[in-house]
Amino acid sequence: MPDVGEKEAATRCGFVAIVGAPNVGKSTLVNALVGTKVSIVSPKVQTTRMRVRGIAVVDQSQIIFVDTPGIFAPRRRLDRAMVAAAWSGAGDADLVALVVDATRGMDEETVLIANRLGSAKAKKLLIINKIDLVKRELLLALVAAANALTPFERTFMVSASKGDGVADVRDYIAGAVAAGPWLFPADELSDLSDRVMAAEVTREKMFLKLHDELPYQSTVETDSWKELADGSVRVEQTAFVERESQRKIVLGEGGSMIKAISMAARKEISESLGKPVHLFLHVKVRGDWENDPERYRTMGLEFPKE
Ligand code: GDP
Ligand code: MG
Repeated sequence: MPDVGEKEAATRCGFVAIVGAPNVGKSTLVNALVGTKVSIVSPKVQTTRMRVRGIAVVDQSQIIFVDTPGIFAPRRRLDRAMVAAAWSGAGDADLVALVVDATRGMDEETVLIANRLGSAKAKKLLIINKIDLVKRELLLALVAAANALTPFERTFMVSASKGDGVADVRDYIAGAVAAGPWLFPADELSDLSDRVMAAEVTREKMFLKLHDELPYQSTVETDSWKELADGSVRVEQTAFVERESQRKIVLGEGGSMIKAISMAARKEISESLGKPVHLFLHVKVRGDWENDPERYRTMGLEFPKE
């Protein structure tokens, strides 16, 4: 009989919630920690809607990152749902990492989050990001200010986009998650299904091409997914916008914009799947989806009651 018991006892596994104000670099950091693109990164505020998880394996440890939507003062119903999702992610986690943008320091939003973290049971880490943009001398004061609000177990200084300091964070977390069996198969890099991944890729392309012309609530859904006999995949997607004027923007002159979005998305989805993809992208107006519970469910969010 092979002695599997001993091997299992050595494994570790845990959830790590990444929290912080919008644009501090949470998605970039998760991507750097996992080493694979799992969540869209874009200069536009509030593009992360889902509790996307990336999974890193370091020696015997499996680390599941929850890349939460930014936590900000919620006014609209969608915003409140995002905030609730972010905090429920933090509540389930073994570790919570607060990401602070070194150029912004402990601004109002970050202070709010740091205060709220005080009550969380999880071990807290402070991650100062974008250190490539500031003078070293400024960092000590920032670390002191953050720890005065909430005592952190450890502090790390990183540049998520350059990769500096990221390995230290990964190694520390690998040692800090609890002993236990892995929750995901060893080769799994993200629990996002291919359909959701494909929708996120298209959504990212749409935002990259249209910048500020679209509200961040615009979504993309994968309607159908067919594996064909020749090894390729036929994917149908719909981009939903709130107004007719936005639909025209997405279509572009003579359909040129939607064609460009679709081509860029097809290329990346195909690379990610490792097989040819035929992508059919449509755009539809869907008014008032903000108050439609079904839309929240497909995004993995709770529908707030008021
Ligand atoms: P999130 O909203 O917190 O998920 O932030 P993102 O990961 O989407 O990053 C916001 C912006 O900051 C993007 O333009 C990133 O390229 C940029 N960024 C992230 N990390 C760094 C960093 O270490 N250095 C610099 N200079 N820029 C960064
Ligand atoms: Mg993000």
